[in-house]
This record gives sequence, structure tokens and C-alpha cells, in this order.
Amino acid sequence: MNDSTEKRRQRFEERQRRKEQALAEAEAAQHKTDLRYMRQALTQARKAYALGEVPIGCVIVYEDKVIGRGYNRRNTDKSTLSHAEITAMKKAAKYLDDWRLEGCTFYVTLEPCQMCSGAIIQARADRVVIGCMNPKAGCGGSVMNILEADGFNHKAKVTRGILEEECSRMLKDFFKSLRQKLKTEDKDEL
Ligand SMILES: [Zn+2]
Repeated sequence: MNDSTEKRRQRFEERQRRKEQALAEAEAAQHKTDLRYMRQALTQARKAYALGEVPIGCVIVYEDKVIGRGYNRRNTDKSTLSHAEITAMKKAAKYLDDWRLEGCTFYVTLEPCQMCSGAIIQARADRVVIGCMNPKAGCGGSVMNILEADGFNHKAKVTRGILEEECSRMLKDFFKSLRQKLKTEDKDEL
């Protein structure tokens, strides 16, 4: 190998190394952003918890700004439609004055159900960031994957497992205290 070949090889490797470094930095920055917004989705979930609702929260981000927030209010509103994502979508659509949520990212503490996943795809949202998965009802890869299904005219990018522990612990705590409450009520009736 002569000198110039060796130099070209070195320059090529240096460019590759810089590209990989830039990619790693971009991924780290994205991860940090994802953590920040998932914490806000958890704040929404806490509002549901306070109402005695299954604690699920959602925020929608557009151009690094939260434009929609929502939390589960199914029992409070006596409505199937009162899922965190649907409430947040209504607010985001109002903010953008458009039903299309192109350029938006959904941050959800729990994997979306079939209704919400369908609505997210209908709204053409870019990306969905999921806290914990829902093996029995989730449609972002568990029961089925509506968010990334081939065949629809739109697909979302999906990131899973952001603050997974915190999101799942909040749900477990909720169901644990609900079971205790039901047990105490049973005893009171005896
Ligand atoms: Zn839902």
C-alpha cells in the first residue's frame, strides 16, 4: 500500500468515525428529550390516579412544544372515548386548527389500545413514544401493531420502553391499592 492510499483510507475512517459520533450524539439528545416529555405524560397519569382512574397519561409534542395533554377519565366521564390520547388529540387539533397531526409525537405512559392507535394513524402523527407495554390490550406491538402496520396509508415511528419502570410501577401501585380497598369494603359488609 503506498502513502496516498494509506492517507485516503485514514481520511475515510475519520469521516466514518465522525458520522458515527454525530449519530450517537443525536440519539442521546433524542433520548434525553423523550425522557423529559415522558415525565410530563406521567404527571398527566397522576391526575387520573387522583380521580381513582387507571393512571394513564399522554402529551403531544409539536416543534418541541407540548400542544396537547390528556389523562384517562373513562369512569369520570362515563365515556369509552375519554382515553388520555383522545383528549390530548382533541387539544392538539384545536391548537393546530387541523385534524392532521403531522409532525407530532405522542408520549404515552401505556401502549395505546386499538381505538387510540387507530386514531393516531388516522391523524397521521409522526411518532409514538411508549412507556410500558400492555400485553392484553396494546395495539402498538402487543395484541397487534396498528401503529406500524403495512397496508395503511400511514405508519408511525415507535419507540418503546421510555421510563418503563416508572410507568409500570404507577399502574401496579394503582391496582394493588384498588385490590386492598375492595378487600376492606368486603370486610365492612360482613
Ligand atoms: Zn386508548
